[in-house]
Amino acid sequence: MARETNPTELETKEQKYVRLPTFLEQGFSALKRDVVDKRICSLCGTCATFCDKIRISEKELKPELVEEYDTICGLCYAFCPRTFLPLAEIERKIFGNEEARKKAEGDVLGIYRGCYAVKSKKEDIKGQDGGAVTSLLAYALEAGIVDCAVTTASDDQWRPLPKVAKSYEDLKQSAGTKYTIYPGVVGIKEAMEAGCENIGFVGLPCQIQGLRKVQTSEQPYEVGKERIKLLIGLFCMDNFKEELLDFVRDKLSLDLERVRKFDIKGKEFLVYDEEGKVYAIALDEIKRYESEGCSVCMDYTAELADISVGSVGSEDGWSTVFAHTEKGEEIVEGAVEKGYIKAKEIEEKGMGLVRRLGESKRKRGER
Ligand SMILES: Cc1cc2nc3c(=O)[nH]c(=O)nc-3n(C[C@H](O)[C@H](O)[C@H](O)COP(=O)(O)OP(=O)(O)OC[C@H]3O[C@@H](n4cnc5c(N)ncnc54)[C@H](O)[C@@H]3O)c2cc1C
Ligand code: SF4
Ligand code: SF4
Repeated sequence: MARETNPTELETKEQKYVRLPTFLEQGFSALKRDVVDKRICSLCGTCATFCDKIRISEKELKPELVEEYDTICGLCYAFCPRTFLPLAEIERKIFGNEEARKKAEGDVLGIYRGCYAVKSKKEDIKGQDGGAVTSLLAYALEAGIVDCAVTTASDDQWRPLPKVAKSYEDLKQSAGTKYTIYPGVVGIKEAMEAGCENIGFVGLPCQIQGLRKVQTSEQPYEVGKERIKLLIGLFCMDNFKEELLDFVRDKLSLDLERVRKFDIKGKEFLVYDEEGKVYAIALDEIKRYESEGCSVCMDYTAELADISVGSVGSEDGWSTVFAHTEKGEEIVEGAVEKGYIKAKEIEEKGMGLVRRLGESKRKRGER
């Protein structure tokens, strides 16, 4: 009589000798079917960063396969933030702390250890709001927590470009918000190719989601995820197609080289020129340029980042900062101690506003 197989023994053997890719047989064609063709791609760039066979087409601004043959390795499908997002699982791996996770369950602001209103103490940092992002990254570089930061700079027409910032001067050049969509995560590939071992990244909530999936997915490929050390997320309600820039230039008859800052305040899109003149365009007027992929997005405050930063919630000239992870909290505290930033409490009213906007984004995304 044949001996009955002991299931525990078998499981142990399988785990030891056969490590199957978790997402086998969901290749680019599945990504195209489930995300790109459904027009929910956020253009985060994660798929093209970690697979050489995918590029973002410059003409259509969407991911496409470079070769005819889809290897179906499953990497792009596993990393894309729009295929599936196992939030509880990712949170467990990043934050650990069961109690904090239970307390935050359902809260639009997610799990955080501290929140602050922050202003840079460096006079030469001209940030979008309080210059918190640039100053926190400058501290992380100086402290050796990262050896580069992947940021978003722009050309003279305000088109966003990834930048691998390795110095204080590089960081200063990336300060300020660029309001048009582009696959910012690809800067991580540049940083890896440049040999950076401790990479910091600043980006939008969808990009942070993609990178957290990269860090936490169980798959057998070497993609260099251990080199990604710090994620700073920006609050984000919407992002816009590149055509917005043409519209602004034509509407205001303004050469974009002369623009020093774009901003959104209340219901207006504001354009500041080099002479300090401010032009206001109603948000309703630029609604048609909103990126399609943003319509399903539910994360306003980049809940999964180490640190997230926005303007809403603090007075003008200050940034609202959430430290989500222990590392994030240490960086904020270190930056205060070393004189990069000053930090104070956020008023209840400010927190209420962030929460309300977070709730409205979540509701919009659920529809
Ligand atoms: C598309 C977009 C929408 C936003 N919407 C909101 C909102 O609804 N509510 C809110 O409170 N805040 C929003 N923000 C965040 C806000 O505009 C500021 O970026 C934030 O307050 C940080 O200001 P700071 O002075 O601390 O940053 P700074 O020190 O000026 O640094 C800004 C950093 O942002 C990075 N960056 C700029 N543009 C982009 C981009 N397109 N993609 C990725 N990284 C970029 C730069 O690399 C730089 O490192 C948005 C930002 C973006 C890019
Ligand atoms: S959402 Fe990001 S990862 Fe997914 S298909 Fe679009 S660019 Fe690729
Ligand atoms: S709204 Fe969401 S999908 Fe759109 S850019 Fe912002 S974070 Fe990404």
